[in-house]
Amino acid sequence: MGAEEAAHLAYVALGANLAGPEEQVRRALVELDQLPGSRLLRASPLYLTKPLGAADQPDYVNAVVRLKTRLSPRDLLLALQAIEQAHGRVREEGRWGPRPLDLDLLLYDRDCIEEPDLRVPHSEMSRRAFVLAPLADIAPGDFIIPGQDRCLADLLAACPRDGIQRLASARACEGAFSLAESQPA
Ligand code: ATP
Ligand code: CA
Ligand code: CA
Repeated sequence: MGAEEAAHLAYVALGANLAGPEEQVRRALVELDQLPGSRLLRASPLYLTKPLGAADQPDYVNAVVRLKTRLSPRDLLLALQAIEQAHGRVREEGRWGPRPLDLDLLLYDRDCIEEPDLRVPHSEMSRRAFVLAPLADIAPGDFIIPGQDRCLADLLAACPRDGIQRLASARACEGAFSLAESQPA
């Protein structure tokens, strides 16, 4: 990656509960690493989690990644949506329905963005154990999410954690991209 000042640090949440969720997430990790001007620095273990919303849908596989990128937040959102579509995502009527892949932009540097279709930090992230737990695996515990008065570890401690469990197969995921982390973000 070129000019250091153009590189930004983003965190992205991945979720999948259709069409081979674990494989969907693993493929998306590679695709995130291949986005223009971007590099995957770190991937959390995968988690198996109970769905939000309608309970009559399969469990989710969730993860969080740290990405170095030169894309703007808007271009990154568009790129995430393009990946979702390539995974067969169809825009569902209701919220939180089943989907082969969901990619949420959690954080972009320490930016706060309030646009109708783009809110960063992601508006629900501080209340979701299935986001905070994998985030805590790859970010320092004293990490402060912009706009929050409690650190990540405290937010996670305050979240009900039933319904989420680490998948035994998570190790492979962590190993695949750990080398990129040694580069400056
Ligand atoms: P939730 O956002 O509660 O996790 P969801 O992921 O199921 O729900 P989607 O249907 O995937 O919601 O997205 C709805 C809209 O959210 C998208 O059209 C997108 O423009 C908007 N959005 C706002 N902020 C973000 C963000 N930080 N990351 C991704 N999408 C966002
Ligand atoms: Ca989501
Ligand atoms: Ca989403």
